Amino acid sequence: MPSNAEYIAIEQKYYAQTVRRRPVVIVRGEGSRVWDADGKEYVDFVAGWAVDNLGHCPPVVVEAIAKQAATLIQTSNQFYTLPQLEIAEMLIENSCMDRVFFCNSGAEAVEGALKIARRYGKLHKNGAYGVITALNSFHGRTMNAVAATGQPHYHELFEPIPEGFTYVDFNDVEAVMNATTENTVAVMIEPVQGEGGVNIPDDDYFQRLRAWCDQNNILLILDEVQTGMGRLGSLFGYEEFNVEPDVMILAKGLGFGVPIGAFLAKEDAMALTYGDHGSTFGGNPLTTAAAAAGTRYLLDNDILGHVKQMEVVLKDRLDGLKSKYGFVNEIRCKGLLAAVAFDSDIMPQVMDAAEAAGVLLNGVRPNAVRIMPALNITEAEIDEGIGRLDTALGNV
Ligand SMILES: *Cc1c(COP(=O)(O)O)cnc(C)c1O
Repeated sequence: MPSNAEYIAIEQKYYAQTVRRRPVVIVRGEGSRVWDADGKEYVDFVAGWAVDNLGHCPPVVVEAIAKQAATLIQTSNQFYTLPQLEIAEMLIENSCMDRVFFCNSGAEAVEGALKIARRYGKLHKNGAYGVITALNSFHGRTMNAVAATGQPHYHELFEPIPEGFTYVDFNDVEAVMNATTENTVAVMIEPVQGEGGVNIPDDDYFQRLRAWCDQNNILLILDEVQTGMGRLGSLFGYEEFNVEPDVMILAKGLGFGVPIGAFLAKEDAMALTYGDHGSTFGGNPLTTAAAAAGTRYLLDNDILGHVKQMEVVLKDRLDGLKSKYGFVNEIRCKGLLAAVAFDSDIMPQVMDAAEAAGVLLNGVRPNAVRIMPALNITEAEIDEGIGRLDTALGNV
């Protein structure tokens, strides 16, 4: 088999160079471990960007995909299919939501939620269309998702960007109040900011935001693309903050590795009706079979309880690293979503050293790395990964 370097040369020759990849060509994965083209083994603390919630190639998902592939792969949404009904029922019966629409990615689900907001404004709020989002948020790469993302450098490249978005500090209810106008129809926020560097709000932030939205007929849209499907230790992140959103956006972990997204809404908020939205592949039998099998396993095997236990372990081990290394100045962790922040911009060096030591991380900020392992990672695997991270930090 060709080496990492030979494969990387092929990428350099053919790809649009939009993603600065790490020099690791992953050829195989099992649980919380992956192997590269040179045969090197790694503990995977990235899990496909918080996607592989049951690890790599979980048998229940592999089996469901194989069985579905041999039964029915794609039909179009002009017909009903069984796996889509199954995952729809599971999501609605286990959430505060009443209706779901399936699509193929997080950005697409964000677009759907924004369409709900637009329709809601026309139907119930004199055409209001303004959406308040948070600075340092991340909502995806399509034009509206870019516009919703509160990071100016994503906008400048593509101006003019769609209008109608206002940005406020995360975790600041007063800022939302001040930014609210007659034209405000929705507030769209991540329960914990993921790409922003794992920023965790105060316990009462979402309850206060909920109250403000209720008083002003504003939809509370939670972008749970990263926090949903167990990442924070509850099936959905909103449960951790004792609020119920009007609209919820899912993707990433929903498919246990396959590409799927969804937006869900309460009955009163689901302003889309016949003809307002659609998708060729959305909720296709293959992806929904994977989502249904993985979600059933997650619920039946108390993986959420396991996340709560592993959160304690992960926090403890990361605190240990903070005590040991003076340049580690903050640990931010909720559920199995964590960031290790440094006192200077040494993320690239940490990434290199971590890969050399055999652990994969995500370089989320110039001064921070993110850890978001499979939700079924064991204590022993956490210890092994942290041991390798310890080695890496000793070498930077
Ligand atoms: C990753 C992410 C998205 C975008 O999802 P894609 O599937 O990459 O389009 C949107 N919102 C949040 C919170 C995310 O973490």
